[in-house]
Amino acid sequence: NDFICKCLIKDFELRPNVIDLLQHPFIKQITGKEKLLPKQLIELIDLNQQTGTIEKTRPHGNTDRDGTDRHERIHTKKGNHMKNQGDSDEVEDLAALEVLDENTVTDHLQNRFERDLIYTYVGDILIAVNPFHPMDIYTAENSKMYIGVKRKENPPHIFAVADMAYQSMVTINADQCVVISGESGAGKTEGAHLLVQQLTFLGKANNQTLQEKILLVNNLVEAFGNACTVINDNSSRFGKYLEMKFTAGGTVVGAQISEYLLEKSRVIHQATGERNFHIFYYVYAGLADRKKLAHYKLSDNKTPKYLFNEHVKLGPDIVSNASYKEQFDAVEQCFKVIGFTLEELGSVYSILAAILNSGDIEFSAVVTEHQTDKSDITNVAALENVASLLCIRCDELQEALTTHCVVARGETIVRTNTVEKATVVRDAMSKALYGRLFSWIVNRINSLLRPDSGQRGENEQNLNIGILDIFGFENFKKNSFEQLCINIANEQIQFYFNQHIFAWEQDEYLNEEVDARMIEYEDNRPLLELFLQKPVGMLSLLDEESRFPQATDQTLVEKFECNLKAKSFWRPMRVDHGFGITHYAGKVTYNAAGFLAKNRDTLPADIILLLRSSENELICKLVTHPLTKTGNLAHTKGKGMNTLRSPRGTTRTVNLTKMGVLTFYRSCSFLESDGDTPYHPRETTNMRTQTVASYFRYSLMDLLSKMVAGQPHFVRCIKPNNDRQANNFDREKVLLQLRYTGVLETAKIRRQGYSHRILFANFIKRSVRQSCGEYV
Ligand code: ATP
Ligand code: MG
Repeated sequence: NDFICKCLIKDFELRPNVIDLLQHPFIKQITGKEKLLPKQLIELIDLNQQTGTIEKTRPHGNTDRDGTDRHERIHTKKGNHMKNQGDSDEVEDLAALEVLDENTVTDHLQNRFERDLIYTYVGDILIAVNPFHPMDIYTAENSKMYIGVKRKENPPHIFAVADMAYQSMVTINADQCVVISGESGAGKTEGAHLLVQQLTFLGKANNQTLQEKILLVNNLVEAFGNACTVINDNSSRFGKYLEMKFTAGGTVVGAQISEYLLEKSRVIHQATGERNFHIFYYVYAGLADRKKLAHYKLSDNKTPKYLFNEHVKLGPDIVSNASYKEQFDAVEQCFKVIGFTLEELGSVYSILAAILNSGDIEFSAVVTEHQTDKSDITNVAALENVASLLCIRCDELQEALTTHCVVARGETIVRTNTVEKATVVRDAMSKALYGRLFSWIVNRINSLLRPDSGQRGENEQNLNIGILDIFGFENFKKNSFEQLCINIANEQIQFYFNQHIFAWEQDEYLNEEVDARMIEYEDNRPLLELFLQKPVGMLSLLDEESRFPQATDQTLVEKFECNLKAKSFWRPMRVDHGFGITHYAGKVTYNAAGFLAKNRDTLPADIILLLRSSENELICKLVTHPLTKTGNLAHTKGKGMNTLRSPRGTTRTVNLTKMGVLTFYRSCSFLESDGDTPYHPRETTNMRTQTVASYFRYSLMDLLSKMVAGQPHFVRCIKPNNDRQANNFDREKVLLQLRYTGVLETAKIRRQGYSHRILFANFIKRSVRQSCGEYV
């Protein structure tokens, strides 16, 4: 392989001529054949790859046997985008800037932004500055421009990232993963849509319907998982990893979504200026439009409590909203095209309507001579509505809400619920129904979009391109448990980025004795340790405290203070239940009020049993069968061996314990302790409830194991201002994001490093294909 590679590199420097290589005397020497066909050369390379890893076949040190510097020849060092520099001051790749400092980089992005050039490269990473206005650069014409052409031939574009991922997948037969990051409102979800659009175009599904279905998946899950926040009108309230499935030849054959940590608490309560999940408004307006409100026990002049806020005070505000009606039609169309049945749709609407009606069930205290802790339902109509929509018995629902059972010395005792407790149970039921409905929809989409076996060869595995779009970093006036989880997930993505761009890259230089200056970067590992370490990480402490019935949110904060000694943890003055974290993206003050309850997230067994008795098949299913878990961790458990991708995107068999990111998670040892716990859904009947924190921790690991299995591509979204204004580039705001995402350091490492990271074998294969593609 080494030899072949050298020949090719020489050829490339002079003129690409693989044909000569096919009849080179050395080839004859090793194969005994006068001349090889390109296909045979590829087979030879593959054979060589199987008998020993490429790493082993390569000589150590920086120089090859002929004494020349291997890297000088193998890698096309920078240069690609330098050509622009002579012509004008502008470059399309920040790594090509002559002066690399914060001001120059910001100036550069600003100049481009002002001319509507929102995309810029930093080496192989794409920076996307949110234009906050529609742009005409995503047309069919644009899609065609970005198929299989060299990156420098077109302006930077998100379609080029799709093409890079697609071409790598097809050429080296390996999974790919596109990680889109950025703070809330920076444009991740829009970017994810554009990637799916282009990948569907590239993967030319044989059947038009499949293409259509895949394009609708995002719209459907976002109707249920996105909501209006004070930062973003269409903010993702869950993490989404969408895997598009392709044949080895690159035809798209299906898709699969994994969802992470839906912010269920939004169903029952929204902060000032925010709204519930979009779907509630769409369904409400849509059903009104079809004169079906009464059928679903909803009123057209009274706003359900769960939707009542300062924007929406009156039912008619929703009912007459034309945009909501249109969205309802669109969502229903998505359901139908993807393949949901009408019966399923009816059940989905019933569950949503039941949730809205639940919010209106009110309780009042019943004070008798002997008892003060009893509650009664004041508006029986709401109770009846819920029971009817959920197809359960009204009296049983009343009992499940206003009483609870305790088992003492083998006897079951029925205790009454206070108004407060009954309200908590009601809200827990609403949250659980919504969360489980969401997971069911995702699972149903997955089963409808699963590639048929007929679309694969006997032994052929599908190839994947995963697109990660999570909720962006958040810092509100008041930050709660949800923000903590969202921000920890973002810390983790930042850590993954750092590992790839800095740690592994520099390890590779060290290993290969490349004379490269080490680039300093902000390592957020201590922060992840602060959150995830066992037994004294924040999530473990939270779990521990959640197990004590007497614990309060105040004792929790005190526990944090006693145990967390990191500099990034602090207690703000004069804030009850307050604690602060200096995240990679800035300081956030959290309020721990409600942390324990949110973490326990208990759904009483009485409610589960009651819902299991429903005559509606779907409702029953939601609480009976463990829904398919969102991911597959099987391959990360057990022997600790796995096939992972090195920084150069090559497949190596490595011991997980040697890999940075997973090692780190292993060191937090939650796989060992939680490995056998079913982590989704969180059943409560007999076993101890799995807390939200431990489920969260587990899903982070699941997400990570998926991401590590693919060759990564990064898109960093930047928000140009806080006011969602077009043509407004707030330098301070942008600079801050460039700083905390390490864009400057990325530019430095890409500038001093190599623009191509590719293993010999893959390089050869690609070259052979490029030179004599039609013969292979
Ligand atoms: P969150 O973390 O809250 O989910 P996000 O990063 O996913 O935020 P988006 O919802 O993708 O943010 O973008 C916010 C808004 O910015 C969009 O609704 C849209 O108006 C605008 N926007 C984002 N990207 C683009 C784009 N490429 N072209 C035009 N407008 C865009
Ligand atoms: Mg989003």
